[in-house]
Amino acid sequence: MKNSSKGGYIIKLMRKIALIFITVTIISSILYYALGKKIINVASSGELDRGPGRTNAVIKQIEGEIKKITSQAREFGENFEITDKIDNEYGVEERKRIINIEKKIEKASITNMLIVNNNFEVNDIIKGTNLDINNIDTQDILNQAKDIMNKKENKGKGFFGGVITTKELSNIVGVKRINTENSKDNTYTVIINPINEVFMENINEITGRNIEIIKDNESIKNDKKIKKVTLYGRDFYCKLNEESIDIFTKFESLGNGPEYYIKLRDDRQVRNNATKNISTLIGIIMILTIICNVLLYIFIKIKVLARIININNVVNKVTKGTDLEIELQNDIYNDEISVLTGDLNKMFGRLKKYANNLEYIGSHDLLTSLINRNKLTEYISELKNNNEEFALFFIDLDNFKNINDTLGHNVGDELLCQVAKELKEYTENENVIISRIGGDEFIVVRKGKNNNDEIERFANSMLIKLNKIYSIKNYSYEIKASMGISLYPQHSADEVSLMQYSDIAMYHSKKNGGNKYNIFNKKMLESLEIENKLKNAIRNEEFEVYYQPIYCISNNKIIGAEALVRWKTEDGMLYPDKFIPLAKKTGDIVDIDMFVLRQAISLCREWIDKGKDQFYVSINASKRFLKQNNFIEIIEKELKYQNVPTSALKLEITEDEIIDDAEYTEKLLKEIRKIGIGVYLDDFGTGYSSFNHIKTLPIDVVKIDRSLLINIEEDIEAKSIVETMISLCHKLKLKVVCEGVEELAQVEILKQINCDDIQGYYFSKPLPKQLFNKFLEEF
Ligand code: C2E
Ligand code: CA
Ligand code: CA
Repeated sequence: MKNSSKGGYIIKLMRKIALIFITVTIISSILYYALGKKIINVASSGELDRGPGRTNAVIKQIEGEIKKITSQAREFGENFEITDKIDNEYGVEERKRIINIEKKIEKASITNMLIVNNNFEVNDIIKGTNLDINNIDTQDILNQAKDIMNKKENKGKGFFGGVITTKELSNIVGVKRINTENSKDNTYTVIINPINEVFMENINEITGRNIEIIKDNESIKNDKKIKKVTLYGRDFYCKLNEESIDIFTKFESLGNGPEYYIKLRDDRQVRNNATKNISTLIGIIMILTIICNVLLYIFIKIKVLARIININNVVNKVTKGTDLEIELQNDIYNDEISVLTGDLNKMFGRLKKYANNLEYIGSHDLLTSLINRNKLTEYISELKNNNEEFALFFIDLDNFKNINDTLGHNVGDELLCQVAKELKEYTENENVIISRIGGDEFIVVRKGKNNNDEIERFANSMLIKLNKIYSIKNYSYEIKASMGISLYPQHSADEVSLMQYSDIAMYHSKKNGGNKYNIFNKKMLESLEIENKLKNAIRNEEFEVYYQPIYCISNNKIIGAEALVRWKTEDGMLYPDKFIPLAKKTGDIVDIDMFVLRQAISLCREWIDKGKDQFYVSINASKRFLKQNNFIEIIEKELKYQNVPTSALKLEITEDEIIDDAEYTEKLLKEIRKIGIGVYLDDFGTGYSSFNHIKTLPIDVVKIDRSLLINIEEDIEAKSIVETMISLCHKLKLKVVCEGVEELAQVEILKQINCDDIQGYYFSKPLPKQLFNKFLEEF
């Protein structure tokens, strides 16, 4: 991901595009150059045709010159024939008058004119003062002319004209025989016009060409660079130079002199012009191409790449950040990138929606659309950060599990929705928020100064609101709720603890019958801890039974004992008030009572074995213990198992436990008594004890509570109350045991007022079995 930062890829792309443009520019330049070369070559390909044509034109000119010289030779030869006759007949003076020949000659474009004899020896020089007749070259011309003249075809005609070459020069030569009567005396007119510089200048002037006459040096035909072109029945040799083209063609000479060539030098104008023009044109095209490419690159950079970079930056922001409020600016162009921009904006929109949905799902309970635990935790943290006090109400529906299990989840869900709807009304107060944290558990947070009265009123109102008949699919269900309340910052500064505490307080409400609220306190925590340990305590044999002796006044003996349970925990001994109420709620009391029962029976067994067959142990029987199915059978079985008579066992029952389900309990107690087990009414004098009630109860003994005996030795009234109680019990044929007796004075008074049995620290505290046995032996 190295390059993804800030348009790294785009920079790469820009470089690539630049590279493409540079490559295209170079390749197109090369192609233009090659194309230009080709065009130049094509354009100048006519040179090889044009050169010989021009040369031929020059040759034609020269041929014309030859013809002229020939005809002049003929004309003047004939003139000479005539002048001869005139000279012979009229004298030389007359000739002038008749034909003014000298003047004509003078006028004619003749360089040299000779009169030669039959043997072509010079008789007379008519024109050409600078001609040296003795010159080898002149002699050569004349010798060749003689041979040519003697050729058959010329001999008949008597004249010829053409080019005769010598070592020095080429010449146009015209010869005409001047016939006489005696052919032996024949002479010849010879015109020699040297093809010299002057001549060529003249020709060049006429043709407008640049022509030279050069003597063959064999190099022309052998030069490999020279191209031979045959045109107009003639061989042309073309030599291409950089700037010019040379065309050579042989001079047709009549004699046997050396070969001379005409050389026409043509500048390669077409080619040069073509080169110049095409080069300029290609140069311009190349520059235009470069400019176009640069402009195109800049255009792409601005109109495409810059926009892509912009898109890239925005996309980067979206991918790296959490801000989805981003939107791409819609651009003024109407092209694919604009479409992409629009599409991306649509995508961002959908993303935002999607994220919002996700956020909703993450923060809400989809069933009830209340906020969920996450959002609640967030809200609580917020309150804490703002130093706001608040109360947290943990609500759990009573018996919801039953409804869910028996009527199905659909009904359960519908019920939860309706409950949520009831609760939602509280959110009209902006200080209240409500969340469902799972199952049938709701948490209500109410911010504001924590005032216990207000909180309790609020809790109560919620319970009342929730406790109603909900109808679902034509059925009606009554719902109650249990509630626990924890307070911030009073109970804890930590939200997890606060939730836990409210849960514990709720649990308390539930344990106490539900449809209640409880504000958390530290004791709940303790009892919770105990409750958790209680489960394992029986299995781990952590309970021990202590026995408190019961003294019989009439025979001054210990006649029995009350079995009282103790819990030896890691942290020391726990007394019943710490765990019995809890065990009663959790139901663990059944196991505890059962354990105590067995221990008590085995103690009885021991003392019966020792001969004390009247010895008994009374055990405290909780309501749950009594309400077990087949309770009688269970007890009988236990007694039988250790072979202990039913008379050795007494059951202590408190009044409030009987009241709860009086009919059932009274029936049970009757059955218990029927099999010979004595029933003791425990803690008499506390609560709503009334003799009217006692009258009808199937009991044998009343245990007067310690609280009634406290001041009995000083307080006459207290004494008389107890005295009355005892006498009334006796009237009802009930025995009386006074418990919690600590002083001798109390013992004395109890004796005085006819109490039957006494139990209390005065005789002994409850003792572990071994110590109890020792105490009993020694008493
Ligand atoms: P209780 O049945 O009224 O038991 C008598 C309580 O008075 C015992 O307390 C005993 O230790 C205490 N006591 C006896 N003499 C004196 C005295 O002279 N002065 C004072 N201050 N107290 C005296 P304990 O053992 O703490 O038991 C408390 C209660 O727990 C019992 O009250 C009984 O209701 C219940 N309990 C004890 N063991 C069991 C049991 O195994 N099963 C059930 N269901 N309840 C039990
Ligand atoms: Ca008792
Ligand atoms: Ca008692």
